[in-house]
Amino acid sequence: MKRGTMSGDSSLLKSINKSTLLKLIKLHAPISRAELAKRTKLTRATVSALVEELMSEHWVVETGIGESSGGRKPMMLEIHHKAGHIIGVDLRSTNMLVLVTDMCGAVIRKTWYPYEQGESAEGTLRQLLSILRQERAALPASPLGLLGVGIGIHGFVEYPSSRILFVPHTGWKKLNWKDAIEEQLGIPVIIDNEANLAALGELEFGAAADCSNMLYLSVAGGIGAGLVLQGELFRGNNGYAGEIGHTTMELNGRPCSCGNRGCWETYASERAIANDLHVEYAPGFTERILDRLNKGDAEAIAVVRKAGLHLGVGIGNMMHTLNPQMIVIGNAMGQYAPWINESIHESLDSRFSYLSSFSVRVAYSRLGEDCCALGAVSAVIREKMIG
Ligand SMILES: [Zn+2]
Repeated sequence: MKRGTMSGDSSLLKSINKSTLLKLIKLHAPISRAELAKRTKLTRATVSALVEELMSEHWVVETGIGESSGGRKPMMLEIHHKAGHIIGVDLRSTNMLVLVTDMCGAVIRKTWYPYEQGESAEGTLRQLLSILRQERAALPASPLGLLGVGIGIHGFVEYPSSRILFVPHTGWKKLNWKDAIEEQLGIPVIIDNEANLAALGELEFGAAADCSNMLYLSVAGGIGAGLVLQGELFRGNNGYAGEIGHTTMELNGRPCSCGNRGCWETYASERAIANDLHVEYAPGFTERILDRLNKGDAEAIAVVRKAGLHLGVGIGNMMHTLNPQMIVIGNAMGQYAPWINESIHESLDSRFSYLSSFSVRVAYSRLGEDCCALGAVSAVIREKMIG
């Protein structure tokens, strides 16, 4: 948010107050100035002055007359959803999903792009820059234009530098795409891990909209988690919190890609399902397994159910550690809900029944394939609006 020429402290305070107002308007729109004053305990005059600034900066618009609680009917406020646009990108292993949204995360264009340059990091960056230029050129005119780009990476991303440290499926290491894209396009860029962004997506627009403590479990070939604690992403010391698939479930268990044995993801992921069904884990795996499940294939049903039992054990461990309100299962495994839900709850009920007061809601991603890209959009909106 723009700072004025006043002293540092009062400028910061004003910026915090404006961010607080924006957050409340976003959460409770349509909302009146009087209600904002009541909720923030700021004076009516201060609220009016700050709202005036937010309107002149195009963040907020008046939306109509509300109900009176006694005196004059109030003018209601909401976020100016057409004021600008955000681009969210999900860089998957076989293609990339690009969403263009308005200021409130409503999708106005959704495009899948196949990779044109194989697995080369330089080629992918070139392609991504060209896509972002095209998408920006196609945006409808708006007062604030393109506010920023959020990019989800299925790998390790350092925080707060946004440096891509390692992407397992391509082998990419130590890439500073944030600076490269910001320099080329002149817009702010946020790069984060897929599970972190998907957690933000479900928190902002999906299954966990009323939660301040929630865990998003991204389960496909492996298991990663996005941890939202007290309404904010918890990243750990360097940004790698949530690599929960590599917690140990069996002391001398199955070998894992990380070099250890008995990791949770070797029992509860799609790779575990592939291993137990003696089939290859390759592109199209989810669709092939869902097809078998839908046709009533007894072997596939039993194997997927077993993965659900192991998921339940790990979820119980996370309940003990973090006591979240909700755990959202997403990525490919979100689509297996009808075949894993019962066995997940069977594990929870049989092992953790004494924790009923801790009870956790197990839900499935509501945003589906858009989850990570919408979370990337949410990360940009949060940074811009809430700071
Ligand atoms: Zn492992």
